[in-house]
Formats: sequence, structure tokens, C-alpha cells
Amino acid sequence: MTRRLRKDWIGDIMHRFETVEDPYLAEQKRAGIGICPRCHAVFRNKRWRLDEKFYAEHKDDPAIPKFLCPGCRRALDHYPGGYFTLQGSFLDKHLDEVMRVLNNEYERARAKNPLEQIIDIKDEPDGSLTVETTNERLAQRLGRAIYKAYKGELTFNWSHMNKMVRVYWKRDS
Ligand SMILES: [Zn+2]
Repeated sequence: MTRRLRKDWIGDIMHRFETVEDPYLAEQKRAGIGICPRCHAVFRNKRWRLDEKFYAEHKDDPAIPKFLCPGCRRALDHYPGGYFTLQGSFLDKHLDEVMRVLNNEYERARAKNPLEQIIDIKDEPDGSLTVETTNERLAQRLGRAIYKAYKGELTFNWSHMNKMVRVYWKRDS
């Protein structure tokens, strides 16, 4: 129970917005320039980037199309490209710190590429925690950050022509 409560504060970074237009209608607007109404990423020069200034200036501008970025579409479809599972008794004792490391690494990843998103964080019945990500790179990146901070064991399992990865980290004491 406490765990679920603690988990809530990472909810802020998971972009649970309710106002979302039909992602597939948006497809046709994909040329040129636009704003993702869900995560606020900006599409320009054929790339998605975070640009808070542009977002703030243009979010209500009817001339700028609003359509979902591929990261948000994947998140809404609940179609993860990566899973990162954290296991072992170390986790229970240090959950807040571990969540902070995950949060910081996620912020760094998103600053570079807003299409990398955490879709969900799940408490598993066996006490482990699974982070679902929009792509395989973010799952690996989070795994490496946790390993760098706490050592333990880190393993990678690839599947689907290397397009999907399951990353496992374990530490018991
Ligand atoms: Zn988005």
C-alpha cells in the first residue's frame, strides 16, 4: 500500500492527460509543423523536440495544428517497445531513491528525445516493479542508470528483431 502511494509521485511524469484528440485523424496533419497536445512536444523540421517556449506561445494558436506525437500514440495504444523490471529486496528499502534515479534519467532522455516516454509503472505480484517504455532505448537507458547507481545484476533480453527489449535488474541487499 505504501508502495502504491509512493509510486504516485512519479505519476506526474507519465503524462496522463485526458484531452486527447483522435490520434489517427491527426495523421493527415503530419506535414510541416505542429504541437502534441498530450506531452507538449513540438514538431518542426521533421523532428519532435521539447520546446517550452514555442509550446507556450503557440498552444492556443489555431494556425498551428495539434496532433499526437508517435510516442504519445504508442503510449495511448499501450504498445510498449521496452520493459524494465526491477527486482530484489534492495528495492523495498530504497524505493524512493530508486524512483528518483529513474525520474532524473527519464527527464534527461526526454530532453533529448520526447518520443521516449514511460507508459506505465507496475507493481508486480512478486514485489518487483516493471517500467513500460515507448521504445527499447529508454528501457536500456533506465536499466543502465540504475546499474550505475546501485550495481547489482543487469540483463537484457531482445526479441522481435531487436525491436523490443526486456531489461532486468536485480539486487538483494
Ligand atoms: Zn506527445
